[in-house]
Amino acid sequence: MTRDSASGAAFEAAVQSHAADQASRPGFALVQAWQGMDLAGIRRHLVAALRAVGIDEADDDARFLIGHVLEPVSLAQALADAALWSWQDATRLADLAALRLQRVPLSQILGSKPFWTLDLKVTGDVLTPRADTEALVEAVLARCADKPLHMLDLGTGSGAILAALLSERPAWTGQGVDLSPAALAVAQQNIDACALTARAQLARGRWGESLRGHSFDLVVSNPPYIVREVLARLEPEVRDHEPALALDGGEDGLDAYRVIMADLPRLLRPGGWFALEIGYDQGAAVLALAQAAGLTALECLPDLSGHDRVVLGRAVLQNG
Ligand code: GLN
Repeated sequence: MTRDSASGAAFEAAVQSHAADQASRPGFALVQAWQGMDLAGIRRHLVAALRAVGIDEADDDARFLIGHVLEPVSLAQALADAALWSWQDATRLADLAALRLQRVPLSQILGSKPFWTLDLKVTGDVLTPRADTEALVEAVLARCADKPLHMLDLGTGSGAILAALLSERPAWTGQGVDLSPAALAVAQQNIDACALTARAQLARGRWGESLRGHSFDLVVSNPPYIVREVLARLEPEVRDHEPALALDGGEDGLDAYRVIMADLPRLLRPGGWFALEIGYDQGAAVLALAQAAGLTALECLPDLSGHDRVVLGRAVLQNG
């Protein structure tokens, strides 16, 4: 073999290696499929591709992904004016869309999720804030006025509940506790972005363990409550991409409630409130745990779909 053909073969191998790298890039197949398409065509193709992997909200997801790439131009504007859509936009869209096709949650791809009146940062280290949890925020706000109150959010995750409540109640202060340092980093960014830094303090800890000697007028939590065996059957977005720490409630889904309920009488000041998010079928069990812990004024409230979603109540006003 001559020197020339040897280096020719080496170069060919290098080209092949690069081509293989390119082909393994998540958006590569989409970029190939979209050659020569305008935005309307790409949108149609993307909706069909999302639907084909089992995503029900394919229309909405395509709209959000395209909107994210177009920002601040709207989809309607870009559909009406071809000059507002470039091939560079298409390749950026392909990389994001490829993640969605792998069932990465939209919130993690976009990096944020609206919750209450806020737009919160989301990563794979935190549970994506859900509309269900707004039922808890609403229930607390309906019962607790804007006068000085110190609250605690156990397992704060993204900080969603803490941030939503403090943003509505300027006289309140609060603490957020989470076992995950990565979650706390996200929560801190949300607290800071909501201009709540001066009123919210975050700390690493397992439930109330790090809070010896502290007491609160209000304790809230959206603890992990999925029955462990059910976790494996959840949609891939949740099962594969959201933190198990925020979802796995143990054998019967009630592990976290047992710990929290046992701690509430110590954590709550006399007459203080608690509000916990629950699974749709956990109302009776969690109410029973609250009763056993000596908590009073117990209520179980539904979310907007009519499912039991919040158990709340109070610590007795005084002992004896
Ligand atoms: N509501 C969430 C879900 O069903 C679970 C949240 C939790 O365990 N706290 O995905």
